[in-house]
Amino acid sequence: MVSNDVPVYDSIAFKDMEFDASTQTYWHACPCGDMFVISADELRSGETIAHCNDCSLIIRVQLDGDAKRLLGMGDAIAVDPARGACDHEPLAVPVPT
Ligand SMILES: [Zn+2]
Repeated sequence: MVSNDVPVYDSIAFKDMEFDASTQTYWHACPCGDMFVISADELRSGETIAHCNDCSLIIRVQLDGDAKRLLGMGDAIAVDPARGACDHEPLAVPVPT
């Protein structure tokens, strides 16, 4: 985790990050000429800070619902309203005598 006193150079929307499938990392160009990188695993674990390979700058990646779905993150799974979350049998079932 990164403490609050580390200056964040910029906030970048997840959709503006580039994905490198060979390394499973997301990256974004840094003004120094290198790039900010963060792995898909780090994003899934809740990390949103991408570090530059070459300088001390960092950026914060903004994850929206689409990003979380793309990453397969659990909290993006919504309950299907058509099925409902409560389809159990009524508790008080009259027993025929
Ligand atoms: Zn840099």
